[in-house]
Amino acid sequence: MDGRALADRIRAHVGEEARSLGHVGFATVLVGDDAASEIYIRLKHDAATAAGIDAQDVRLPESIGEDELLERVAELNASDDVDALLVQTPLPDHLDEERIVRAVEPVKDVDGFHPWNAGELYLGRPQLVPATPTGIMALLAEYRIELDGAHAVIVGRSDIVGKPIAHLLLQANATVTLCHTHTRDLARHTLDADVLVVAAGRPAVVTPDMVKARSAVVDVGINRTEAGVVGDVDPRAADVAAYLTPVPGGVGPMTIACVLQNAVRCARFRRGEIAHSAR
Ligand code: NAD
Repeated sequence: MDGRALADRIRAHVGEEARSLGHVGFATVLVGDDAASEIYIRLKHDAATAAGIDAQDVRLPESIGEDELLERVAELNASDDVDALLVQTPLPDHLDEERIVRAVEPVKDVDGFHPWNAGELYLGRPQLVPATPTGIMALLAEYRIELDGAHAVIVGRSDIVGKPIAHLLLQANATVTLCHTHTRDLARHTLDADVLVVAAGRPAVVTPDMVKARSAVVDVGINRTEAGVVGDVDPRAADVAAYLTPVPGGVGPMTIACVLQNAVRCARFRRGEIAHSAR
């Protein structure tokens, strides 16, 4: 499954929407200088700028106190120029990530991490959904992967990938199994998966002998190794599965495109073109 090609199309569409809206303001907040976070912020900014979205890059020192950070978030919440707001995680250890995420206005919560948006997804009324699972669903739709009645197995139960993709697949009428580090005999589950989503953060958590023939496999992992960036799935799984997302070039570009898509959605919520339940 070619994430780059679909992501390019989504980004072109986002550009058209941003032009028709006149102005879409997207602010990111980066605390400290984590190298991986810097890369993600740069990718999002470059993509936003290319799509005609007005991106604001707020950089704050590692030493910032929690109250000061909350004040900055409040300012961006109140700013009319900002439609979409993202605080890059992970935050330095002295900052309470949950408290910061809760401080972002739900209507501007472009990452979909706020408990309001997470709760609406859980209830089957998605408003703003995290970009990675949104991108995975778009890829599965693009390749017409049958989800209704399929057995979808997810490896990883994080709040940003595993749990939200479980809800989206459930809403698409898949039968969902959510696996994690305490799961006994992981292969027993993965071997039965018509659709397998792997977001564990460990290279080769899934090997070809763990994959069902003619299934669709989505590799979310981004692992920096001596051999370069690799996913969580051994690429030879492509010999067994009908579909596999490459790393890089699969889920990664879709995540960036879907963040931009969410930014446009935030702008539409704020203009009252579509209704957000928190307004
Ligand atoms: P996380 O560390 O928060 O969660 C990992 C989950 O995997 C945990 O629930 C854990 O129980 C489970 N897990 C780990 N090892 C396992 C094993 N051996 N067997 C079964 N379960 C296991 O990670 P995350 O934030 O969900 O990210 C997962 C991976 O996806 C990382 O490599 C991350 O870099 C990548 N990621 C990629 C994108 C993208 O756009 N492509 C976006 C987000 C995350």
